Amino acid sequence: MSSREFVYEKFCEFYNRSSTVIPSPVLFRQREFAFLLFRERVMVRHNSFASPKALASFVKERIPSDVYHSCAYYENPAAEMEKKGWSGADLVFDIDADHIPTSCNKIHDEWTCSNAECGFNGKGITPENCPICGGVKFETKTWPCDLCLDSAKAETQKLVDMLENDFGFSVKEIRTFFSGHRGYHIHVENEAVRSLDSMARKEIVDYVSGIGLALFSKAKKDPPKLKPSAKAFSLSDYGWNRRVRLGMRKFLLGASKEDLHNVGLKTNSDIILREKDAILKRCLEGDYWKSIQGVSTGTWIKLAEYVKDLESAKIDTVVTTDIHRLIRADGTLHGKTGLLKVEFPVKDLDKFDAFTKAVAFKEGEAKVLVSDAPEFRLGGKTFGPYKQKQVLLPTAAAVLLICKGRAEVLK
Ligand SMILES: [Zn+2]
Ligand SMILES: [Zn+2]
Repeated sequence: MSSREFVYEKFCEFYNRSSTVIPSPVLFRQREFAFLLFRERVMVRHNSFASPKALASFVKERIPSDVYHSCAYYENPAAEMEKKGWSGADLVFDIDADHIPTSCNKIHDEWTCSNAECGFNGKGITPENCPICGGVKFETKTWPCDLCLDSAKAETQKLVDMLENDFGFSVKEIRTFFSGHRGYHIHVENEAVRSLDSMARKEIVDYVSGIGLALFSKAKKDPPKLKPSAKAFSLSDYGWNRRVRLGMRKFLLGASKEDLHNVGLKTNSDIILREKDAILKRCLEGDYWKSIQGVSTGTWIKLAEYVKDLESAKIDTVVTTDIHRLIRADGTLHGKTGLLKVEFPVKDLDKFDAFTKAVAFKEGEAKVLVSDAPEFRLGGKTFGPYKQKQVLLPTAAAVLLICKGRAEVLK
């Protein structure tokens, strides 16, 4: 039996289990469903189902490696794109380790240019263009590790905080999911967001990413010889102004001389460290930004720019602006991991553990030959690291390694 057949069999068992339930998205009948079929390896789009039961039968029979539904609502979800009749879409965010610079991606992520004549490769985040031939297609080898997921979680926390406190969505309207691979999906389901067009969604993207904040654009456009009062630095107490203020406070409280150097503050770093208490009290709390000698408006702007990057949420911007986007269906398996997309309450974000909660295959074992795998955690156990090693593993761990192209099944 090939490794692919083995995984297919496990997916088949999972979807045919009586305990398997695929939760249905709201307004189920107005959604388009799409599937990547295991055997045929093709994407089947423009499906709609009269009931969750009909969807479940389709999945049981066809066994997709991946199941998606539209974030959009359509009058005719099964029609071709132009004839669907778009009537709205959820507001969705995708936070994925692919888009976050982590300290681990240089260790476990690799990319190779797909241009046969080039084949250039590197480690870390996949570039947009190949630095040698300019190509845009790459073969990638990634890994979902604890650090990746913790970074994605930290970004999710910032995003959820903005959605709640700056946009005013209630916790009930914000749904949080583990994506099944290396990140989280955040869905906002609310009448007010449904009709937003792509441009309006782009505005939301810019806000959470901290793009085009007036605070900075104004400072940049100022002619260099403008009198100081016109450039005076100030922060109000709501939205991004508040975020920058709180972020500065957090940053300055723990900042070392080296941290300040990283911000680009060299000559006055000693003053900042020496006057830390006064800065926190007079500037950050009292708004007397120019009360410390040696700490100028320019310094505040540099610091604010840096803190803005720390406080912005690193989302995959394309996902949010695309009003026809397909998103993985809750309760279905991810073809690259064999893990489930699972929902959890927003309040549990901090303690949510994907490597126990998203495990679908809880029984059996399989013997595999692992080519290369870092140490990893799954279902409460730790495995590896492995290099060219035969091991007997629990099904979930074997499926994960095979799906990630790191192992072959042995029979
Ligand atoms: Zn290339
Ligand atoms: Zn990682």
